[in-house]
Amino acid sequence: MSNFSHIINDKSWTWSYSRITTYEDCPYCFYLKYIKKIKGVKHFFSDYGSFMHLIIQKFLTGELKKEELVGYYLMNFRRNVVGKAPSQSIFQNYFQQGLEYLKSIQMPDGEIIGVEKEVSFKLNGKDFIGYIDVVSRNDGIYIIDHKSRALKPRSNQKKPTKTDRELDKYLRQLYIYSIPIENEFHEYPKQLCFNCFRTQANIVELFDKDAFESTKKWALDVIEKISQEESWKPNIEWFRCRHLCDMCKECEYYQMFGDEK
Ligand code: SF4
Repeated sequence: MSNFSHIINDKSWTWSYSRITTYEDCPYCFYLKYIKKIKGVKHFFSDYGSFMHLIIQKFLTGELKKEELVGYYLMNFRRNVVGKAPSQSIFQNYFQQGLEYLKSIQMPDGEIIGVEKEVSFKLNGKDFIGYIDVVSRNDGIYIIDHKSRALKPRSNQKKPTKTDRELDKYLRQLYIYSIPIENEFHEYPKQLCFNCFRTQANIVELFDKDAFESTKKWALDVIEKISQEESWKPNIEWFRCRHLCDMCKECEYYQMFGDEK
């Protein structure tokens, strides 16, 4: 049993997709963030993703009109995206791609029935929480997730490619969100969609019951692992530690060994 099982088993504890993937990426990060409850630092990529989510949310809820988006983006970019980009060219690309996306943004097909929809639900008695970017109703329910990551559509090759495996990994979040959708609407989503706004790619996958079941098993297996964890080992990977991990300033392993490049 974990040396912090009293925290994980406390009534106030909730699981989420991001808690589970944080542990998978780096157990020590999970320990700092969720057990020690340390406040993290801001990075360029997370700031940028949050800012784009905010603008898209304002558009979808009618708070900003399409013709107001570019002005809002330009006026507020620097105030919202404070983290330093890894390079000037990455900054330029992200900035320009966000701008181009907002110029030609479209409402999703169908009726929007939820934006940044907060969902609370249980998986095998474990309390979960999540925020679904968009839920829409068309010829069924669609879950839409805005992604700054440039995911690739499924290759449909016999042997799954590296990008297929990456897509499957990200789809787990949308399969987890399919639980509260089924609870509320008494039907599974028809489509799981990624709005990859930087590349303006709309990746659509049909809901698959087997993938749904294996995602639930994956989540429960990781939760069980966390419940048994005692060593909380760091997983140092330079780019992630430096540019993605909000615990990097508190992580003595990264401070000692990681920031050498
Ligand atoms: S900086 Fe790296 S090793 Fe340290 S907690 Fe973050 S991801 Fe883990």
